[in-house]
Amino acid sequence: MELRLYDTLSREKRAFVPLDAKNVRMYVCGPTVYDFAHIGNARPVIVFDVLFRLLRHTFGEAHVKYVRNITDVDDKINDRAARDFPGLPLNEAIRKVTEETGRQFHADVGALRCLRPSVEPRATEHIAEMREIIERLVKGGFAYVAEDHVLFSPQAMNAANSSLPRYGALSNRSLDEMVAGARVDVAPYKKGNTDFVLWKPSKPGEPSWPSPAGIEAEGRPGWHIECSAMAWKHLGEHFDIHGGGIDLVFPHHENEVAQTCCAFHRERMANYWMHNGFLQVESEKMSKSLGNFITIHELLKDWPGEVLRLNMLKTHYRSPIDWTMKSLEESAKTLDDWYRVAADVEPGKPAASVVEPLLDDLNTPLAIAALHGLRGGDVSALAGSLRLLGFLSESAAQWEGRKQQASGVDAKEVERLIAERTAARSRKDFGESDRIRDLLAAMGVAIKDSKEGTTWEIAR
Ligand code: AMP
Ligand code: ZN
Repeated sequence: MELRLYDTLSREKRAFVPLDAKNVRMYVCGPTVYDFAHIGNARPVIVFDVLFRLLRHTFGEAHVKYVRNITDVDDKINDRAARDFPGLPLNEAIRKVTEETGRQFHADVGALRCLRPSVEPRATEHIAEMREIIERLVKGGFAYVAEDHVLFSPQAMNAANSSLPRYGALSNRSLDEMVAGARVDVAPYKKGNTDFVLWKPSKPGEPSWPSPAGIEAEGRPGWHIECSAMAWKHLGEHFDIHGGGIDLVFPHHENEVAQTCCAFHRERMANYWMHNGFLQVESEKMSKSLGNFITIHELLKDWPGEVLRLNMLKTHYRSPIDWTMKSLEESAKTLDDWYRVAADVEPGKPAASVVEPLLDDLNTPLAIAALHGLRGGDVSALAGSLRLLGFLSESAAQWEGRKQQASGVDAKEVERLIAERTAARSRKDFGESDRIRDLLAAMGVAIKDSKEGTTWEIAR
């Protein structure tokens, strides 16, 4: 079966044919490193990790290149640095913020069992490439200099008589309507009200670099140009897949396409544009003001990363997710069970019943249903399939041990009480055996009797 992916630009599911099967190339917009990542940010990271693993499975590990950037120049970073380290020079404070946040991000997504991308470029290390693209855009008549800014003109792009894509095609918008509907208080240096910033002057003390296009004052890049530059440097002018959350389609990705295609006279930037749906919490939009803003870091204190990962993958990546406590509890139970039956089994080939739904535009809910189907049958295929999806990174004993540690339960004491209870039951002293069961329950331990004996787990 072939891989099929839904492409936001053509608005259809299409067979995935890489430009070069020996070098499949994917770019995903990464985090802006100024604060802990929240559980919504984890969604694209997990979704595209599954795609990365599936591409490696399909084309071979050595033949897939996955680039996810780190945005380390941004107003939000500057504001946070000034707030958190008021005594330090701004540039030093910024370095502290971006380094600490970057480290935290890697710890978080590592716990979610996401593989490191092949390259994680930082925006501040690609200023030369940004300048080069901007120079090309100015020379080509797509961008202009005004008051030490460089601005891109979507109208110039759509007026160009060439095989460029139409500005607005990706987000399915008409430029005329955008022009008509634009705000009236547009910055005075803009010629057109939909023009966007490629480069801007830095305020005193802010990070700054020599400017392109003959501008004397030093400046810094706009956000959109960063991704065009990093994708170009690491994947070339035209590559296979570009991904991110649905909120990035406009303006970020529309502007990336515009910059890259106009700079390199290309019809396309990426052949497949993929966007994950949004995540909300207990049926509400996640926001600081509603008090339901959850960081990955906080969640990891209560749940193993694989539980968060499974919980994310139970919903198809293009649908919205409602993140609930109830669903987390179910995901935890499912993983406990999979660990018990499959973690210590020699993994076999991933089952076709799991791989096929994945090949159909990453249908993870169907793949998970197939995993449940393997549970009572081919457990070695279950083990192999779970590993393909990034699960079972620990042994069954490690999994149990960590859970007990997290709950503060003394495993030896639990085993001793269970032995006492078994003895009580065999002498038919049910009063005593019930007393011990209640005692264990009060310690947060649930027990289960079966023909093979009594097993226990931490009750949630
Ligand atoms: P940001 O740091 O806000 O640029 O976001 C980083 C990535 O997380 C982008 O791909 C966003 O589209 C994605 N993202 C942010 N919030 C959510 C959310 N609530 N649900 C799903 N994806 C999100
Ligand atoms: Zn981007």
